[in-house]
Amino acid sequence: MKRGKTPTFLVELPLATQPDQAKHLRAHLEAARCLYNALLGEAMKRLRLLRAESRWQEARRLPKKYKQQRNTLFSSLRKQYGFSEYALHDYAKTARCSWIADHIDSTMAQALASRAYEAANRVCLGKAHKVRFKSRGRGLDSVEGKRNDTGLRFVLQTPEQGNAGHLIWGSSLIPALIDWDDPVIKHGLDHKIKYTRLVRRRATSERAAGADSDGNRYYVQLVVEGSSHQKQKNTVGTNTIGLDIGPSSLAIVPQQGPVQLQTFCEELRPNARKKRRLQRKMARQRRANNPQNYDTKGRVKKGRLTWKNSRKSLSTRRELANAERRLAAHRKSLHGKLVNDLIRVGNTIQIEKTSFRGWQKLFGKSVTRSAPGMFSTHLKRIVAKTGGTLSEVGTYHTKLSQYCHGCQTYTKKPLSQRWHSCPCGIGPVQRDLYSAFLLAFLKPADTTPSIAQQDWEGVEPRLLTAVECLKQRANEGQILPRSMGITRAGARQSKSLAGLQQERSSHLLLDRKGRVEALDEL
Ligand SMILES: [Zn+2]
Repeated sequence: MKRGKTPTFLVELPLATQPDQAKHLRAHLEAARCLYNALLGEAMKRLRLLRAESRWQEARRLPKKYKQQRNTLFSSLRKQYGFSEYALHDYAKTARCSWIADHIDSTMAQALASRAYEAANRVCLGKAHKVRFKSRGRGLDSVEGKRNDTGLRFVLQTPEQGNAGHLIWGSSLIPALIDWDDPVIKHGLDHKIKYTRLVRRRATSERAAGADSDGNRYYVQLVVEGSSHQKQKNTVGTNTIGLDIGPSSLAIVPQQGPVQLQTFCEELRPNARKKRRLQRKMARQRRANNPQNYDTKGRVKKGRLTWKNSRKSLSTRRELANAERRLAAHRKSLHGKLVNDLIRVGNTIQIEKTSFRGWQKLFGKSVTRSAPGMFSTHLKRIVAKTGGTLSEVGTYHTKLSQYCHGCQTYTKKPLSQRWHSCPCGIGPVQRDLYSAFLLAFLKPADTTPSIAQQDWEGVEPRLLTAVECLKQRANEGQILPRSMGITRAGARQSKSLAGLQQERSSHLLLDRKGRVEALDEL
């Protein structure tokens, strides 16, 4: 949501809700859900009318070079059909009537209108295929205000009054649990609150600590002006780092200091497996409870269907939601730790520009698990916060994956070839590490890295050490991603397996420009 340009960060506090307050919150959130659906429906209706308009189609057909003309046409049509954030705010005024008005104040209605507009606008811009209405069963799990002086807001007492904080919504005054000894919380609460958000999360069960009779916990998120707390131990380094992000590995080569080739979010694997199990269990239960919704081939029937949920299946759903939440939180903390580790070494970082969305389609599981796109966004934000630079190097002109600095030539290699080794005497060196090395020494304005002999001589032994470390770990029995190209000592060589490989299914690999290559499974 567009709200000024000042930097913000979040502070989250658990709420101590009494049973009657929880009941009020449920009613409030249900009202918010109804209003949101109404607003979303209206936005989509306007969008349909807008898209049916012949002038809209004309504007779309205009060549992209008439940018100005296209824009004026689009915006005048949007205005005519009332498809804008502000037009929807106006609509929210009329939609917020009767019983809904008892629950939702005008600023919250505006915030919901903005949210509905944003969802519909994503469809309009082709960034999404459809919008999702909030069902009664799942409900709306978060609402926010616009300002911290009316509607949903958070008030903090002065130290003399007792330092307590309360969330105010309508007539409810809900105390938040504040740990003033936590430096992160303390730092956050010392800043000005811009607006407040209420979040509902599913607890593991109704009997979980702090959960209401439906098994939900409530939290308040304060959107605070300023920048978040920087822990003392996370001091900023001065090195320049080349970073090669892969779907399941990460090569880190600073200009000075130790080099690393890591597995990327490998720790998440067991949790991801657990989540998958629960998904399968839910699918089985859904099928058993609703045989009428499947055809003879076992496919879901088309059209409007009603689904029954057993109590067991509801508890699986809760368990799944919990597994998902846990996985996401774990991933976030791993990413955070990795980013901090990098920043401690240096905050001038060079990466290759990559379409992580393209990866998603091909690698599926490993990318969903490790979320490299999310990692690079997080890295970008933290680098900017510490005053460093993160440059993304376009692959089209640089072609680093084909480059050899020894003879300054470009040779295409298939993605299955995990080692760089050149007749000129460079290598063999692990490919991801080599491209991270080239990134580390690429000057921002150049497209070819100019590498002095002493630079390479300084780095090469470090690259070899990193690989030796990994080999050792592989020998100890740790399983490394195949893409690293490091096998256990004594493992059969790929040559002897060549015949077998032909029959086996091959792994698809996508290079950074989006082309597909086959990597034979070893
Ligand atoms: Zn060469």
